[in-house]
Amino acid sequence: MMQLRRVRDIEYQLLPGADRQTTDIVIERNGMITVRPPKKMTPEQVDETVLSKRMWIYRNLVEWRDLNATRVAREWVSGESFLYLGSHYRLQLVVEQDEPLKLKDGRFCLLRSVVESGGREAAHQAFEDFYREKGLPRIKKRAAYFAPKVGVAMNSVQLKELGYRWGACLTNGDLHFHWKCLMAPLTIIDYIIVHELCHLRHRNHSDAFWNEVDKVLPDYRERKDWLKVRGAELDL
Ligand SMILES: [Zn+2]
Repeated sequence: MMQLRRVRDIEYQLLPGADRQTTDIVIERNGMITVRPPKKMTPEQVDETVLSKRMWIYRNLVEWRDLNATRVAREWVSGESFLYLGSHYRLQLVVEQDEPLKLKDGRFCLLRSVVESGGREAAHQAFEDFYREKGLPRIKKRAAYFAPKVGVAMNSVQLKELGYRWGACLTNGDLHFHWKCLMAPLTIIDYIIVHELCHLRHRNHSDAFWNEVDKVLPDYRERKDWLKVRGAELDL
């Protein structure tokens, strides 16, 4: 029996306790984190242990990511997991459904015919469309929430393919965000949004700029570090 738990930005599968003193933390082949604690530990104590090991976990996730980077073609089969707002969801291929891709009952349900007729490319596109469509209203809402806090008026908000950048601030006040942002946890999305909003005041990364970011998100360094270390995982 497994239980999915989350402590801060780390999501892990809690396995039944074992007859021993130490906690086993493993990055599985699919990138999932599994934790087998000593029998007597409460789930809250396991959370604490996981949290104390988080730098090790981050490092190993990066390593896992590097090892898997060469595995170019993702296997578009049921059981693979995909990210949305920082959580992993298993993929399930379904025969019938009114949209190509849906998040339903904790699973990403992808129409089998999409994969059969268009292969990997079509499946990739279905995910990108999903992130764009479901993500835009979310990003707009958060940007509208943070704009007054930064003290700026923004123009339109759009999701784009931005290559290696997470966001861009145009001279006319338009904000562009990479659709891949939608794979990140909400706290990280907020950081990306605030970062771009602050660029409406300072079009550089000067101390004055970071001061603005700090005023709105005093813990921005932690979020920025997360993006630096784990941003590469936000990919299809
Ligand atoms: Zn910037």
